[in-house]
Amino acid sequence: MNRFLTMTLITGAALTIAACSPKEGDAPKEDFTYTIDAFADLKVMRYRIPGWESLSLQQKEYAYHLAEAAKYGRDILWDQNCKENLRVRHALEAILECDGIDTQTPDYQEFLTYAKRVFFSNGIHHHYAEDKIFPACPREYFASLLEAADIQDEQLLEIIYNPEIYPQRRSTASGGDIVRQSAVNFYEGVGREEVERYYSGIVDPRDPEPISYGLNTKVVKGADGKVRELPWKVGGIYSPALEKICEQLEKARAVAENDIQKRALGLLIDYYRTGDLRTWDAFNIEWVKDTIGTVDFINGFVEDYNDPLGRKGSWEGYVNIKDFEASARTETLSANAQWFEDHSPVDPRFRKKTVKGVSAKVINAVCLAGDSYPSTPIGINLPNADWIRKEHGSKSVTIANITHTYDYAAREMPTSTLAEFAWDEKEIARAKKWGTVADEIHTDLHECLGHGSGQLLPGVSTTAMGEYASALEEARADLFGLYYTADPKMVELGIMPDPEAYKAEYDNYIRNGLLVQFTRVELGRPNTEAHMQNRQLIASWCLEQGAADKVIVKKVRNGKTYFVIKDYQKLRALFARLLAEIQRIKSEGDYEAGKALIEQYAVHIDPDLHKEVKERYEALHLKPYGGFVNPEIQPVLGPDGTVTDYVPVYTDDYLGQMLLYGKKYKTL
Ligand SMILES: [Zn+2]
Repeated sequence: MNRFLTMTLITGAALTIAACSPKEGDAPKEDFTYTIDAFADLKVMRYRIPGWESLSLQQKEYAYHLAEAAKYGRDILWDQNCKENLRVRHALEAILECDGIDTQTPDYQEFLTYAKRVFFSNGIHHHYAEDKIFPACPREYFASLLEAADIQDEQLLEIIYNPEIYPQRRSTASGGDIVRQSAVNFYEGVGREEVERYYSGIVDPRDPEPISYGLNTKVVKGADGKVRELPWKVGGIYSPALEKICEQLEKARAVAENDIQKRALGLLIDYYRTGDLRTWDAFNIEWVKDTIGTVDFINGFVEDYNDPLGRKGSWEGYVNIKDFEASARTETLSANAQWFEDHSPVDPRFRKKTVKGVSAKVINAVCLAGDSYPSTPIGINLPNADWIRKEHGSKSVTIANITHTYDYAAREMPTSTLAEFAWDEKEIARAKKWGTVADEIHTDLHECLGHGSGQLLPGVSTTAMGEYASALEEARADLFGLYYTADPKMVELGIMPDPEAYKAEYDNYIRNGLLVQFTRVELGRPNTEAHMQNRQLIASWCLEQGAADKVIVKKVRNGKTYFVIKDYQKLRALFARLLAEIQRIKSEGDYEAGKALIEQYAVHIDPDLHKEVKERYEALHLKPYGGFVNPEIQPVLGPDGTVTDYVPVYTDDYLGQMLLYGKKYKTL
């Protein structure tokens, strides 16, 4: 992968249950149900938008059009994930809207679960595990549904049922050609080597300000045997969707909060119309500058996780508003960024002399779209281009209302992973008292300071870590956060409420890294997801390295395994050591050492322990993955037909929202 991969998926928060006292305006509402649907391994929640009421009418209008622009990109992501996805979805929609089908049969219920899973994943592959999803109803039954909905498509059943066709979205296989094996619609008729040769032919390694080569194109081989790129732009691929997006962005621009936003939106529209990646960079530079607005957004081909070669941006939309009170916390961190860099436990040669432009804030989501819908990160750090981050800074956000919704939804459940996997009442009490706030502070440190810390030695390539780059980078940011979560400076700055509060995060991290997170990996499969690898690496490395000192102790009670931290300060010292080593690896470009760390500590899951964790988790009847429906922002019309207000309407109908979006935002 060729860039910093900085969008975190710290859904560990989803697996903890904690009961701190939430802030005014975002307290759980008694009469508001957060969990609105649950099926397979998924649950769907709805989030509220604290602070919406205090926006001006103009700010609401701005957010409304940005949200419309975000939602119009939905079909792009579906097509990017696999070129047959829209075809499958249109068939599912037709069946779901078809009268005269008996919906009470067990087969129909299985079909319904399949449909809901496909909607959740924006396609026929699991949103997280990458594997193809199969309906549990018989193929003949599915055929009868297609017939009832009057769909004549011979190939469709093959696409849906044949395990040989598109087995994985992004291939996680260790052998073979990962480009050809992946179902993603980023390449056609080309293999890994051809793609790599193509890009090494056009990338100028001496350019200090390189564009994000290949970010917004599909690579194909023409009839002439030549490899070329086809752009995703107005007049190119995805034109109908991008035209709608531009139309809404124009409307947003007219009511933007300030001139920086206006310039940024102008550049974004320009970029969609030309496909010019220099304009995309220019947009990002303007976007980073806007730290004064209340309303902010993401809109574009952004993260490259779905591309086996880490170039192609998945389409993503996000609209959010600033949480002023909580932002004070991250602003304090940013204001002290240099102190943290100077006191970091890494070799001084690898520290940044001046840490620049770390802006951080806490936001509340207003609309999730594309790659962030329905499953969404809880912290985001953009833009991705290294040189822009270095020269112009980056924006780090943590998303408060999403994190809180995870907590509130967990409290609606009678069981919790905390009670199951924590060793004793003391650990549970600590988690309930400090868990949420300590976890949020760790996320803040990870996003605001962790990714931005450290520097490469001169001449070391940013791509030196190859396929291990993401996991190592996430580990570096997590370790930076873990180390400083326990620092007295955090209490001194008024961020950490109590000198003992960090222990709740240490407990949580070790419990998650060594146990709880494996609930999300299929039995017999290795750990392949970068964020999960990072957590396993840190936790199991510390377990091993601290064994002689009994820093973390493995205990078994009634056949159940627990990991108990015995010495928090020594654990902190181990975090410091590993941070120093991973920073050295990255700074020196020591590929072999990085590879060894990942392969030794982060991939293999002990099969007995894995089985035990899965069984204990299943007995809780919880869902390992969560996602969200959006509140619909609805214009309120006055007597003369002008818009007098925009109000969020909170739906509790997951499938209803999917079908609504399928009609309203259908572009491809
Ligand atoms: Zn991260």
